[in-house]
Amino acid sequence: MKPLIRAIVDTAALRHNLDRVRATAPSTRVMAVIKANAYGHGMVPAAKALAQTDGFAVARLDEGLALRAAGLTNRILLLEGVFSTAQLNAAAQQRFDLMVHSFEQLEMLEGRAGKDVISAWIKVDTGMNRLGFRLEQFAEAYDRLRRIASVAPDPTLVTHLANADDRRDSKTAQQMQSFASATAGLAGARSIANSAALLAWPDSRADWVRPGLVLYGISPFPSGAGADLGLRPVMTLQTEVIAVKDVRAGETVGYGGAWLAPRATRMAVIAAGYGDGYPRSVESGTPVLVNGHRAPLIGRVSMDMITVDVTDLPGVAAGDPVVLWGEGVPVEEIARCAGTIPYELICGVSQRVHHEMK
Ligand SMILES: *Cc1c(COP(=O)(O)O)cnc(C)c1O
Repeated sequence: MKPLIRAIVDTAALRHNLDRVRATAPSTRVMAVIKANAYGHGMVPAAKALAQTDGFAVARLDEGLALRAAGLTNRILLLEGVFSTAQLNAAAQQRFDLMVHSFEQLEMLEGRAGKDVISAWIKVDTGMNRLGFRLEQFAEAYDRLRRIASVAPDPTLVTHLANADDRRDSKTAQQMQSFASATAGLAGARSIANSAALLAWPDSRADWVRPGLVLYGISPFPSGAGADLGLRPVMTLQTEVIAVKDVRAGETVGYGGAWLAPRATRMAVIAAGYGDGYPRSVESGTPVLVNGHRAPLIGRVSMDMITVDVTDLPGVAAGDPVVLWGEGVPVEEIARCAGTIPYELICGVSQRVHHEMK
């Protein structure tokens, strides 16, 4: 018996999107970002589908360990590096590449007894002001890293852009300029671009790109959708109608009576709610695909159910298929209706949702 709500993950679309990245930046290596359970898509199956990448990036040690435990032998970068000597030893044993962004991490590497060689990526903070060595500290950090015998020569030089999704924002050019001067003359490959930079800022492509969102077929920009960029959506969040009901004009629907029927209304009750990761913040009017046709959500999202006006869609019955986002209803559009970004929606698909690879 199949579960009512399913996240269907299209592995062919994942490969297609990786090909799009390659076509966009043909002379650049790709660190496919699959942190946070591959943005809610399922980390191990996503990694298997993306095996042709040059490496995988995850945020934390435990994510890398899960990939190794599943038998993946690819190069794996821990984007935040390690935070204790125990983590450092485990990471070295698994041959993880490590981001080095703080003097604490440098000291750990300097004090490490083990002999196996670690590939390091060193991060310079050019204005994101989150992780990374400040510009004035960077030369010292780089020199110290290079003197550590168990660190492979020529660490990869990294920065992260704060505003790359805005093509008109001058901050990106400033950050790239700061990066160029901080790293001028230093040996080592360069990595700057996330998804938005890869597409909008050709100068950021450098030696390694670090795309996440675009691999899942989603646009990193505030308007439009992945399809406009030649991408294919990977996740389709699919469920079913569980009841159909008629309400009279003037009656209200759901908690708080938030929606008042302006006319006699036929309504579909659908198995999806914030308990599944469908955002409670969407407003009435948000599109839901019922039997392949758009219908407006009405009233509040509850934990297990939403209600949709299907008065204009004759013949809707319990058991009919519903798409919440994916093919036909871009998750970018639902995110805008919810006042958030698509990253949050896909990462927030809950445990109750059954994942299915196709
Ligand atoms: C998450 C992350 C990325 C990927 O970002 P997208 O916007 O999903 O492409 C790249 N680099 C770093 C350092 C990250 O943390």
